[in-house]
Amino acid sequence: MNLYVPDTIAAISTPLGEGGIGIVRLSGPKSIGIAKSIFAPSKAKKLNVSHQLLHGWIKSSNGEVIDEVLVAVMKAPHSYTREDVVEIQCHASTAVLRQILEIVVSKGARLAEPGEFTKRAFLNGRIDLTQAEAVADLIRAKTTASARLALSQLKGELSQKLTNLRNRLLDLLAEVEARIDFSDEEIEPSEMREIYAQLKPIKEQLEELINQSVKGKLLREGIKIALIGRRNVGKSSLLNALVGQERVIVSPVPGTTRDIISEELLLADIQTIIMDTAGIGSPQDQLESHGMRFSHQSIKEADLILWLVAADTPLQKDDLAIADKIKDLTYIPVVNKCDLSVRIDKNQLRDLVGNREPVFISALRGDGIKELENQIAKLVFDNQAIDTSALIISNVRHQKLLEDACKSISRALAFPENQHYEELIAVELNQAIDSLSKITGDKVDGELLNRIFSRFCIGK
Ligand code: GDP
Repeated sequence: MNLYVPDTIAAISTPLGEGGIGIVRLSGPKSIGIAKSIFAPSKAKKLNVSHQLLHGWIKSSNGEVIDEVLVAVMKAPHSYTREDVVEIQCHASTAVLRQILEIVVSKGARLAEPGEFTKRAFLNGRIDLTQAEAVADLIRAKTTASARLALSQLKGELSQKLTNLRNRLLDLLAEVEARIDFSDEEIEPSEMREIYAQLKPIKEQLEELINQSVKGKLLREGIKIALIGRRNVGKSSLLNALVGQERVIVSPVPGTTRDIISEELLLADIQTIIMDTAGIGSPQDQLESHGMRFSHQSIKEADLILWLVAADTPLQKDDLAIADKIKDLTYIPVVNKCDLSVRIDKNQLRDLVGNREPVFISALRGDGIKELENQIAKLVFDNQAIDTSALIISNVRHQKLLEDACKSISRALAFPENQHYEELIAVELNQAIDSLSKITGDKVDGELLNRIFSRFCIGK
């Protein structure tokens, strides 16, 4: 499936900035020729052997030494792109990397677009689309769990499962289509029943994958947590305690946090975005009322709410109003300021929060913060440790297509099995197969490919 002109591309494949090693990578038919023309090996060895590191120098056109390097040639098809690939490992100076890139371009390479190496790996059939997308996810992964997830997708586990489901659908489609040509009398209703019986488990497996996508989203994108509570209960202080450094201004003047302040944090290996909000209660001025609108907004946006109350005062009217507002949502009651003398009525609190377990903390002293993190992890993963060895869909594009496939199968199954709807059923099965094909990239248009690969960094 060669959809591109196999020219030679080049890019700096390591992040720019000071570092030990920087890599300029080339891929395409001219790679080895270009490398030979600029590389002076230290020993009488030539760049002909694949997968071998050679020491030497890169020289400019006028013979000036640019850097001391190690060069590796990976001959097609045993390379990342399945084309001839050359990697020049130099010192990670931006000036050196740029100079080497300029030289290889002057010798006939073209600057690579973002993700173009991976795109070639896909177009040359080394990986499918889910694996290519996993590369981008792996590069971006911030938590071990999300890295593990991307790696399982990169290994092709998702592709295997989808290919298997698609093949089963293709078999069933062939059977349905065979029946279209028969007349009424010849068809045994039980035969259709048999097809339905085989369709159902396929649908169930798709549903299972879709259900797992919620966990996938959590692992990959993180969850949004809103800190909610009347003013002065210690929301900003808790955010500071979670961040571990004073970044949010904590002030004893009620109503200081007027806007949403959000921080990206790793809590118990979960990527989270914590939103600190203006206190909810009766607004005391125009500005604060603006901030409070954000509070209500952040309640809507949040996947999880931390509702803060203060241990040193009885529950107040504003606390009760908040409790009422969030009563049907997912929240953890957090009792702050436990270092002070406790005046809150714990029984009244328990009545309000039902079966939710309150966590007692002191944001000021850091007491109970670890327990709060554990409670968040417990809630996020439904009291079960997340099993990242399970196939988890983390990609919104995959999730949408799985849902489409599932809907098509549901529509097919909705036709009464003892009547002759074979043609309509075949249409639905075809659509389901199409949706699955789009996930793995067996059927995909150029525009979508461009969109997917533009998410990549240059050099990958
Ligand atoms: P917010 O309005 O809910 O964001 O509350 P702040 O975080 O600004 O805190 C209000 C006041 O309560 C500040 O003076 C904090 O120092 C104080 N405070 C916050 N957490 C604690 C705590 O755990 N113990 C004590 N004693 N004071 C706290």
